[in-house]
Amino acid sequence: HAEALTVCLLCGRIHQAMVTSMNEDNESVTVEWIENGDTKGKEIDLESIFALNPDVAPDEEIAPSPETPPAPTPLAKVNRIAKNRRTIAPSKNDTPSKDNRGLSRRKSNCVKEVEKLQEKRERRRLQQQELREKRAQEVDTTIPNYEILYMIRDFRASLDYRPLTTADVIEEHRICVCVRKRPLNKKELTMKDLDVITIPSKDVVMVHEPKQKVDLTRYLENQTFRFDYAFDDSTTNEMVYRFTARPLVETIFERGMATCFAYGQTGSGKTHTMGGDFSGKNQDCSKGIYALAARDVFLMIKKPNYKKLDLQVYATYFEIYSGKVFDLLNRKAKLRVLEDGKQQVQVVGLQEKEVKCTEDVLKLIEVGNSCRTSGQTSANAHSSRSHAVFQIILRRKGKMHGKFSLIDLAGNERGADTSSADRQTRLEGAEINKSLLALKIATISPGMTSCENTLNTLRYANRVKELTIDPNQVIDGGRPNIHAVNQVDLLDEEWLSISPQRDDLKLLCEQNEEEVSPQLFTFHEAVSQLVEMEEQVLEDHRAVFQESIRWLEDEKMLLEMTEEVDYDVESYATQLEQILDQKIDILIELRDKVKSFRSTLQEEEQASKQINPKRPRAL
Ligand code: ADP
Ligand code: MG
Repeated sequence: HAEALTVCLLCGRIHQAMVTSMNEDNESVTVEWIENGDTKGKEIDLESIFALNPDVAPDEEIAPSPETPPAPTPLAKVNRIAKNRRTIAPSKNDTPSKDNRGLSRRKSNCVKEVEKLQEKRERRRLQQQELREKRAQEVDTTIPNYEILYMIRDFRASLDYRPLTTADVIEEHRICVCVRKRPLNKKELTMKDLDVITIPSKDVVMVHEPKQKVDLTRYLENQTFRFDYAFDDSTTNEMVYRFTARPLVETIFERGMATCFAYGQTGSGKTHTMGGDFSGKNQDCSKGIYALAARDVFLMIKKPNYKKLDLQVYATYFEIYSGKVFDLLNRKAKLRVLEDGKQQVQVVGLQEKEVKCTEDVLKLIEVGNSCRTSGQTSANAHSSRSHAVFQIILRRKGKMHGKFSLIDLAGNERGADTSSADRQTRLEGAEINKSLLALKIATISPGMTSCENTLNTLRYANRVKELTIDPNQVIDGGRPNIHAVNQVDLLDEEWLSISPQRDDLKLLCEQNEEEVSPQLFTFHEAVSQLVEMEEQVLEDHRAVFQESIRWLEDEKMLLEMTEEVDYDVESYATQLEQILDQKIDILIELRDKVKSFRSTLQEEEQASKQINPKRPRAL
C-alpha cells in the first residue's frame, strides 16, 4: 500500500500499518493497524522502520549523528508520508497482504536485523535512562515537580519569542486590559516553586497548568490568553506605564475622567506596579505609576495648548476598607460616602492637596503609604483586603477639569470570601468582588502554587475585554451589561459606592455561571444589605446618643424646677410624660433596627454556609 509502511511485530510477522505520530525524543514512530476488527498500535523505533522500508530510509550521508543538527531529519521523510495518509490500511486477519508476500523471503534476515536493532535500542534506552537520572541529579531531585519543569522547558524551547519593545505602537483603546507577570520572588525560589507562566509575545499569556491523568502520569495543559498587552517578568514599571496609564494622561487634559486599576492576587505585584519598586522593605515611589503619571501631568501642563488654561493640580490619596473610606492624607480620618442627587458618589471631607511638582507628589505618596500601613501588624494582610486610590485632579479656577484615578485594588483571591468562618473576612471579600468588573491591569504571580488564582485573574480580565468588544451593542444600548462596564469609565467613582451594585453582581452571575452560584448571589445580596444596615444602625445610635444628652439637660431642668417652693405640678407632670414618650418611641425604633440587624447577621451566616465550593473545571 502506497501510504502504509511495513512494520515488524515482535512475533516475527510482517505487517502493514499506518504511522500516526512521530516521537522525535526517542526517534520512533507510533503505528496503528487493524487486527480482527480492532485497532491496535505500537511504538517502533526508526531504525527498524528503515530496515524494513528501505525506500523511506534516509541516505547514509544524512543519517543523524549526535553532532550534526537535526535539520533534514529522517523523520521529515516519514512525516511527509504520514501527512499524506488518509486511511488506515488494514491487513486481512493478520495474513500478509499480496504486497508483503515478497518480503517473506527476507523474513529471517529481517528478524535477525530486528533483533540487532532491538539490542541497540535496549542499550539506547538504558543510556537515556541514565541521562535522565543524571539530569535529575543535576536539577536537584528535591524539586517535587522536576518532570513538569522539563516539560515547560521543552515547551519554551519550541517557542519563538517576540516580547514587547519600546518600538511597539501604543494603540488607543477605550478599555485596555493588560497583564503583567512578576518574577519569582525569594520565598518562591526557596520553596522551589516553578514558573508556570510564559509570555511569548507582546499580547499573549500562557499558563502551563500541571495535570495528572488517571494513571498518575503528569502532563501540561497549556492555556493561552490574549490581551491588549502582556508584560513579561523583565518588564520595568516605566514600560508598563508607557502602554497603560500614559495614554490616559492626555484624556484628563481633554476634560475627561480616566481610571487605571491594578487587579490580581495578593503578592502578584499590584502595589509594586502602582506605588513603586520595593527594595527590601523600602518602596521607591518615584518608580510607580502614581508618580510617573504625575510627572507627565506636570510636563503636559507646560505645553502651550494647556498652559493657557491655567490649570491647578491637586492630589487625593485614600483607602477603602470594608466599604468604608479613610483619608490617607489626613491621618486616616474616616470619611462618609454619600450619593448626591444625581446618584453620583461623593466622598465627604476628602482632602485635596495642591501639588506644584513631582517632588510634592512623591512627598504626599510617602505620607499616605506610611499612613496606610501604620498600626498594622501585617501590612500585607491589611493591604490584601483594602483598595488604595490615588487621584490626580485638574481644576480650572476651582472648577473640576479632569480627574485621573489610579487604583491599587485589594487582592482578588478566593477562599477568604466564602469559606472562612470569620464574618469580617467574608464581608471584605464580598466588597472586593464587586470591583471585579472594573479592571484594567492585571498582575499575576508566576508560581505553580498560584496557578489557580492566576487562571481566575486571567479569566476575569479576559471577560472585561469580551464584554466591550462589540461597539454596535454599546451604541444600540443593547445589552445592559455592556453598558455597565462602560459606565465605569463614565461615572468614574461608581465602583466605590457602598450601596449594592446589583447590576454588576447580576452580570457576574450571568457571565460566570460556573463561578457564581445562585447561593453566592444571595450571599452577596445579604452582605450588601448588611453593610447598609450597619451604617444605619450606627447612624441612628449616634443620633439617639446626641438626643439623650438633650433629654438629660431637660430632665435636669425639670428636677431643678421641683425644688422651687411653688412649682407648677401640672406642668412638671406634662413635661415629664412628653420626655418619656419621646424616649420610649425613639428607643423602641432603635431597638427594632438592632433586632433586625442581628437577624440579618444570622441570615448572612446561614447564606455563607450554603455557598457551593467552586466546581472543579472539567479536564
Ligand atoms: P500586591 O500589591 O499585589 O499584593 P506587591 O506589589 O506587594 O503585591 O508585590 C509582592 C512582592 O513581590 C513584593 O516584595 C514586591 O517587591 C515583589 N514584586 C512585585 N512585582 C515585582 C516585579 N515586577 N519585579 C520585582 N519584584 C516584584
Ligand atoms: Mg498591595
